[in-house]
Amino acid sequence: MLVEGAILDADGPRAAYARLRSGRVVETGKIGTDSSRGRERRVRGIVIPAPVNAHTHLGDAMSTREPPAVPLARLVQPPRGYKFRLLATTSAPEKRRAIRAALARMRRAGVAVAIDFREEGLPGVELLRRAASGSGVRAVILGRPLARPIDPAELAAVLDASDGIGLSSVVDETPETRRTIARACRDARKRFAMHASEGRREDPGDYLDPRPDLLVHLAKATPDDLRAVRDDGVPVAVCPRSNALFGRQPDLAAMERLGVVMFLGTDNAMFHSPSIWRELEFAYVSSRLRHRPVSARYLARAALVAPWRWLGDPDAARIAAGSSARPLVLRLPPDDPAYQVVTRATEHLIVRFGTARARGGRGR
Ligand SMILES: [Zn+2]
Repeated sequence: MLVEGAILDADGPRAAYARLRSGRVVETGKIGTDSSRGRERRVRGIVIPAPVNAHTHLGDAMSTREPPAVPLARLVQPPRGYKFRLLATTSAPEKRRAIRAALARMRRAGVAVAIDFREEGLPGVELLRRAASGSGVRAVILGRPLARPIDPAELAAVLDASDGIGLSSVVDETPETRRTIARACRDARKRFAMHASEGRREDPGDYLDPRPDLLVHLAKATPDDLRAVRDDGVPVAVCPRSNALFGRQPDLAAMERLGVVMFLGTDNAMFHSPSIWRELEFAYVSSRLRHRPVSARYLARAALVAPWRWLGDPDAARIAAGSSARPLVLRLPPDDPAYQVVTRATEHLIVRFGTARARGGRGR
């Protein structure tokens, strides 16, 4: 397949063509200089790396009702918030079915990876691992041991089955617990992540010590807090729709201006569809509503480029011959590609490659 239009990737937006074969990039260049000699299916559009949804709680996908009108803490705070009562009273098969449906939706939307905070200890991690198997979406699972004080055997088992640990926040965990977990993650070469400054400001002196590999939210962080996060080189997964549902808004313009490495996540599956496209558009438009506009390019990087480096595969964010990227092709006008992708992309605009057989033998 020959896509003529634009490429938007780790090297930024540009007018270009890309030839794809079996879902991989085999050639790119200036429009009109391709070697296909007119023998291939031609599409006009924008080629991008597959997006990463950098913060989900897929485990709570079994409930999709409007949240009750109570403070956020009463909804999602462990161990007795509304969400944790729902988790405790839903059977494992029901949870697995709901998670699989959420993953299927993400796959249709082109999402390659979901970085998930999985509660419920080792069984929670195992449940998601099984649900994600064969789903077409890679789940990077940040589990959470249940015992306090930390039970070393449980922590080791959770770490063994997961990709790391994702904690609630500094107010829910003692410094000792955080240090124990951070040390174990480092020793096991796994990730240590945490929510921070979601509903009210927390001190970076707390959430950066021990230093996490990933922070989530920072909706209440001040510019000085963001500078401290940037200086420690910790990326931030922001979830603008999730914050907005509870009357909050992360300052994306400040994050961009200060050079914070930002990712984008859709947060609790019980409150929001896991659609990275909706998240992108909302992030862009809501920042304008607040007169604190963030650029489409910065948002596009947050969904398509920056997380791949964190995942250890920066090459997957480059649309170039022989790269590890499994790109998406969006049927969008190629002018101003970052703006197109951020404000107009939906799963319906993804060009499906199809197999050689499905397309009558013309599998290119
Ligand atoms: Zn979260």
